[in-house]
Amino acid sequence: MSITFSDLGLKEPINKALVDLGYVTPTLIQQKAVPQIISSKEDLKAFAQTGTGKTAAFSLPIVEQADENSKVTQAIILSPTRELAVQIGKNIEDFTKYIPKLNVTTVYGGANIEQQIKQLRKGVQIVVGTPGRTVDLIRRRALKLDNVNWLVLDEADEMLNMGFKEELDKVLEATPDTKQTLLFSATFPREVEAIARNYMHNPVEITSGEKNQGSDNVTHEYYNVTEKTRYEALKRVADVNPNIYAIVFCRTRRETQLIADQLIQDGYNADALHGDLSQNQRDSVMEKFRKKNIQMLVATDVAARGLDVNNLTHVINHKLPDQIENYNHRSGRTGRAGNKGVSIALVNRKERGKLSPIERILKKKFVQTPIPTGKEICEKQLFHLIDKIEQSEVNSAEIDSFLPSIYEKLSSFSREELIQKFVSLEFNSFLSYYENAPDLNKINDRGRDRDSSSGRGSRMSSDNMTRFFINLGRKDRLNPAKLMGLINEQGIDKNVEIGAIDILDTFSFFEIDNNYEAFTLEAFEKSRPEFNGRNVNIEITKERKGRRRSSSSRRRSGGSDRSSGGGNRGFGRTINKSNNNSSGQSSERRRNNNPRKNRRR
Ligand code: AMP
Repeated sequence: MSITFSDLGLKEPINKALVDLGYVTPTLIQQKAVPQIISSKEDLKAFAQTGTGKTAAFSLPIVEQADENSKVTQAIILSPTRELAVQIGKNIEDFTKYIPKLNVTTVYGGANIEQQIKQLRKGVQIVVGTPGRTVDLIRRRALKLDNVNWLVLDEADEMLNMGFKEELDKVLEATPDTKQTLLFSATFPREVEAIARNYMHNPVEITSGEKNQGSDNVTHEYYNVTEKTRYEALKRVADVNPNIYAIVFCRTRRETQLIADQLIQDGYNADALHGDLSQNQRDSVMEKFRKKNIQMLVATDVAARGLDVNNLTHVINHKLPDQIENYNHRSGRTGRAGNKGVSIALVNRKERGKLSPIERILKKKFVQTPIPTGKEICEKQLFHLIDKIEQSEVNSAEIDSFLPSIYEKLSSFSREELIQKFVSLEFNSFLSYYENAPDLNKINDRGRDRDSSSGRGSRMSSDNMTRFFINLGRKDRLNPAKLMGLINEQGIDKNVEIGAIDILDTFSFFEIDNNYEAFTLEAFEKSRPEFNGRNVNIEITKERKGRRRSSSSRRRSGGSDRSSGGGNRGFGRTINKSNNNSSGQSSERRRNNNPRKNRRR
């Protein structure tokens, strides 16, 4: 017989609240953590992914034991992001619904601190906070942790990833030695182990499954891509899954915005979520995503942390995370609450090396999956359309009055002809878009051949490079190494391919992988670097090596190239422009008739 919440020995008001929430069976981590924390004062180290029910696992025993008649703060729960903190606070409010004197307050940065101080002054037994704001409130003496019985470090790995080590130390210092520390983490890299070693006393270890292992409900797939096909592959994944509801993970804020802009421009229900957005913008994007008004949320790891969505169909790694442990966090966003999910990694040749270490953590193999062909996509879209027609409700009241004249107009067509026409109306755009679309799997292979036969390792051919003019030359004591240093300092992308460099007397040229054309312009424009006291300017020049004009005409040429894209240098459009010129995608792109754009929603 399966265990229920009433078997865990929680008091009646909590059980009642859990019934209201529809919680019947405790999850594995709850079955292990709740009785352990209630019955023992020992510290606890719990291996738990998001989606395993870990919030209730640490909150319920605290709610069970907290003294609602005392006004002092008895529990402090630290969480890496505002969103996650708010979510934990809300969960605890739900659990304490029938214990009215037990109060919880959530404190986080970016919100009015005075208001939070006022709340704390009223006397709250449970405080949930982000590390920075918690330390701030301790410093202002608005938050006193001397009587804390429980300290929870939720998503400890993320907090350390985000650079909160110092804040964690400060909070730990403010709490008494007698407290019970509960550390929850999906992964246990060295830094988390160090926290456990230094601040916990012989902690009991529990796990919601095997350490660091991914959910059983998630299958892991990888698609071989090149930089030329990465974005097209992403679109095809979306097109072959018409009901996709996914987070597309990117490594940087810039990459996130770029991919989201491109998807939006290409007619997808997508939006970006990253730290450059204001809190209001982030809240609004998350709300739209929760309501499924957005099908694909392009996000950074950090920004997506607080998003509580249980029914994602896919997690897509547009680029794998720098720290492989984060793959687990990402893929754990799907396959939750008993649902199945797919985690897809788009990997180029270099990135493929990251798959084996991830497989070792997951104890699961990635399945190599071919990028869907145009034919497969058309087939999927066609049957999706038929399903939609089959399921669509007819609003008789609204259309009845038009029907006689519509029947009249279409009376010459047979049933078969009418079906053909209606289906074609919706479907033609997909068909024509993908009609002559290249097999991206073959482009990968050709790319590999070309790379390996070039004799230059993975260097790209000039066709894939954008040539830049830079207003520095030998006279400025520029040399290739210094130029590369200068480019690298702009933080474009550490994997960006730099091609030929020509240093001349008063100016020079360098080539950059044309996928990074816009990034490069943007990066230099943003940081406005100086070199030996001179302001640095770069411009795109379309000239190829060996076809140079005089320096003055070259300058003009560079200038006019740049101004021809003037006002047009938002990421999406500039990148699009470069993609249009790139091999592999051109036949699809040149038509510029994205099927989604032509469809009426
Ligand atoms: P968490 O891992 O705490 O973020 O929880 C993931 C999701 O599962 C949240 O939406 C919870 O509300 C839900 N949840 C947690 N525990 C249970 C349970 N025992 N029964 C049903 N849903 C649960």
